[in-house]
Parts: sequence; C-alpha cells; structure tokens
Amino acid sequence: MIDLISLDTSQLENSLVELGEKKFAAKQIRLWLCKGVPFEEMTNLSKSLRTKLRENFNEGYAKISQKHTSMDGTVKYLLELTDGNLIECVVMQYHHGHTLCVSTQVGCRMGCSFCASGIEGLIRQLTAGEMLSELIAARESGEINNVVLMGSGEPLDNYDNVTEFIRAMQSEFGIGMRHISLSTCGLVPGILKLAEEKLPITLCLSLHSAIDEKRKKLMPIAKTYTINEIIEAAKVYFKNTGRRIIIEYTLIRGFNDGQEDIEALKRVLRGLACHINVIPLNAASKNMDSPQSISEIADSFQPPSKKESYTFTAALERSGLSATVRRALGSDIEGACGQLKRRVREK
Ligand code: SF4
Repeated sequence: MIDLISLDTSQLENSLVELGEKKFAAKQIRLWLCKGVPFEEMTNLSKSLRTKLRENFNEGYAKISQKHTSMDGTVKYLLELTDGNLIECVVMQYHHGHTLCVSTQVGCRMGCSFCASGIEGLIRQLTAGEMLSELIAARESGEINNVVLMGSGEPLDNYDNVTEFIRAMQSEFGIGMRHISLSTCGLVPGILKLAEEKLPITLCLSLHSAIDEKRKKLMPIAKTYTINEIIEAAKVYFKNTGRRIIIEYTLIRGFNDGQEDIEALKRVLRGLACHINVIPLNAASKNMDSPQSISEIADSFQPPSKKESYTFTAALERSGLSATVRRALGSDIEGACGQLKRRVREK
C-alpha cells in the first residue's frame, strides 16, 4: 500500500480523482497528515472517503520504535518506516528552543571513516514525506524550532526529496528557511545546484581537515572533490544566499589538531564568510562493545580533552578565524549519527 504522506499535493489530487473523489480534499488530507492524525480521525472528510483511504493507503507515519533520553535532555528516536527500515532522529535542547536533527537516507553511500551510518552503504532514499514524518514523531518532545539535516545520509545525494522537504517544512509546518541547516560532506555539483535555488538555509560543510591528503583518509568523497573546489562552491553559495557557511571540524587528537592544520585552515578559508564549529570527537563511539569496528583508522582515533579542544579553538581565533567549540550532546545515549540503529541491528 502507498504511504499517503509520501505523495505531494498534486499526486494526492490525482489519487483522489482515481478514487472517484473531488480534488479539493487533497489540501484537507495534507493538513491532517501534517498533524500525524489517523484516517479515522480526519473528521472533516466524509465517512466514505475515510473508508476508501483506509482501504487503499497507509498514512505513512514512522513509528517510534525506541526513545532514549540523555541526562542533558537530548532525545534520540529510533523510528520504524512502513517497510520495516529503521532511521534515527534526535531532538536537542538549546536556550533558543528545540532543534531536530533529521536523517535524509536509510544508510549512506559516502563511507566516512568515523561514521556508523555509512557502514552498510545506501539502503534507499527517504521521501520528503518520510522526512516530514520524523518531524511529526519528534514533536512529542515539544515544538520544533530549528531543523538540521545532519542525521544519517548525505542530503545532497537525495537532492529532489530534500529540497521538497525543506519547502514543505516552511509551507506546512511554519519553520522558516533561516531555521534550517543542511550539512554536506562536500558534493560540489549539489552545492552549486542548491546555490542556484537561493534558499536562505545555512550550508554546513563537513571539512574535518583543510589538507587534502588527511581528508582523503577520513572521507572517500575527498578523492573526487578537492578542498579548493568545495570552498569555491561554498563562496558561490554565500554570494547567492548571503548565508555565512558553517565549517564542521571534528577534532581528533594527534590527527588534525596541530599547527599545520591551523595554517591550512587559515589558507583555505581565506575570503570565505564562515564560522568553524570545532566538534570534539565523540568519545562514545570509542566505547561501543561492538564486534564490528567502524574502520581501522577510526579505531586509532582518540578524542581530545576539553582543554585541547579549547586550546585549538583559541589558536584558530588568534589567527583571525571565527570558531567555537560545539557542546557535545547526547553522548550517553549514542547521540552520534547511526550508533543506536547499528547497536539495535547487531542485537
Ligand atoms: S558522515 Fe554523513 S556523509 Fe559521511 S557516511 Fe556519515 S551520514 Fe554519510
């Protein structure tokens, strides 16, 4: 059966016509779907239409399979899609409200060495409706004020569904574009395509090293696009949207925390309006009692101490770059991308 939430309004209209119904009900149904309501409770639809919907469609909502709440208030959900696939999303509490981190794919083909989501490769793309169903499920934690596309999956590898999702968040959930961030590992054609759309969302680049040879050890995509190519694309993005770029830099002791790394960042980021988020490597990923390691290189990684993270960030600031240490949230509940799903599957 088709998931109704995965149909856009015009597809929904066509489906209604096929059922011998009027098109206008599509808008009413869409409003109910965004509220996460079952067909039986869509009370302004006729009983016969509700019956037809039940006989021909699923609502398509993701089911909360597990919920883990961290000591810092972060909530991680393991969601089951209607085909049985599992995805994760995370709600984080900040002083400015709730931020939801959504997954955009089941699995991921990018294979970054430090990430549990890439281990099994890409299983399938998520539809825009399935991404919306993450938002619907997560609202049980409270109103969602900001959304970051930083969960499992590379958003620009699922371009059409992701941009449909972003537009639907604004039009159907009232989440403004300035409250949405998209993180990419550096798919240059995708960045340039997104720049053409001129959506005022924040673009985050998972850089992790400003030295190509080091980056290649972390992320296979670095063999396809050089750092200079990515930064040039980011400059076009800033020019078209006016949105400052966020550089994500996972700090790994003894790997990317030296003076040469600071010099490289200075050189590469010259002329780009950006801010660097220094993210201390998630210590939780080192403690997993799992028989399967993420990768040989990831096994050798050491998280930096708090002092080392602040010292590195202060050195970036002294060299004229804007940088802050990002607070680690949810490390006691496997808050990092793909960890919870991986553990459940292994069990
Ligand atoms: S870090 Fe992002 S792009 Fe890389 S494997 Fe994980 S989900 Fe994919």
